[in-house]
Amino acid sequence: MTHEIAVIPGDGIGQEVTPAAVDVLGELNIDFEFVHAEAGDETKAETGTALPEETAEIAADADATLFGAAGETAADVILPLRSIVGSFANVRPARAYPGLDALQPETDLVFIRENTEGVYSGIEDEITEGVRTLTRVITEDASEKIAEYGFQYAKRNGYDDVTIAHKANVMRETDGLFLDTAERVAEERGAEYDTALMDALAMHLAMTPEEYGVVICPNLAGDMLSDLAAGLVGGLGLLPSANIGEENALFEPVHGSAPDIAGEGVANPSAMILSAAMMLDHLEYPEEAETVRAAVESVLDSGPRTPDLGGSASTEEMTEAVVDEL
Ligand code: ATP
Ligand code: MG
Repeated sequence: MTHEIAVIPGDGIGQEVTPAAVDVLGELNIDFEFVHAEAGDETKAETGTALPEETAEIAADADATLFGAAGETAADVILPLRSIVGSFANVRPARAYPGLDALQPETDLVFIRENTEGVYSGIEDEITEGVRTLTRVITEDASEKIAEYGFQYAKRNGYDDVTIAHKANVMRETDGLFLDTAERVAEERGAEYDTALMDALAMHLAMTPEEYGVVICPNLAGDMLSDLAAGLVGGLGLLPSANIGEENALFEPVHGSAPDIAGEGVANPSAMILSAAMMLDHLEYPEEAETVRAAVESVLDSGPRTPDLGGSASTEEMTEAVVDEL
């Protein structure tokens, strides 16, 4: 069976790390057809639009999309792409790796972030000069979907601890609905879980991340808590993510286009390669996904490493080392 993969490197280091992930995927015994497409700042300069219709169609038709990064035009590219793939869950693992310095070396967290509503509903107004409002939308439907996905994820990936993050003591209606719905889902599934107020949770995650596993969050909380966790494990170059939809999905590193190092060939390819591993899981190649992760882990442990990890290897050298491990 052939899997059609849309490959959108985008801008800056996206151009450098995306080919690294494609190289790694090419080493596996899986029939991929990579369809390359353009988006981002350069595309806008050339064509007048950051996300050409052709690219949108390629992503919509593909079985999955690998996306690198976009610079200034990020919001014009990634937000529509996420909605083209119908993504409702943003999955952000944050793991510490042996052999690398991390503030919290025991961290192994996965944030399951609701990706369609909350304070990112886009409903903002100026009601009079100097007074602006934002409508925070929480629906039972989206809350149920994200909770179902979170509990499924925990079960499939062997996480015992599931925490539902909320602030229902203050946002009684909206987070009340989020919390009630997620708890109902847990009970229907017979799953164990904890609930946590998101502010206190931020402190506990910083101090004792090892006590947590999967964290199911409303949109903004998931965005912020997962960045906090990124700080605990040390470095944007390590963090992959997935945007999961009903039938389609998009995989991208958490980092952006890193204009400060773009073009130098020294970007850490790990986040992008680990995003490709998440794609392998999604396409139901768990063994291959694990093999890729193990190869990345081994290179992170013994090198060669890129400068952000204290080494002096290029993107290509680090990628070759991962390919050799495979
Ligand atoms: P953008 O607006 O595209 O997000 P940015 O300036 O915010 O760009 P990021 O890509 O978010 O840059 O990166 C933030 C910092 O982390 C930069 O200093 C960048 O060099 C570093 N960084 C990010 N990703 C990597 C990577 N894969 N390898 C090495 N360093 C990285
Ligand atoms: Mg950035």
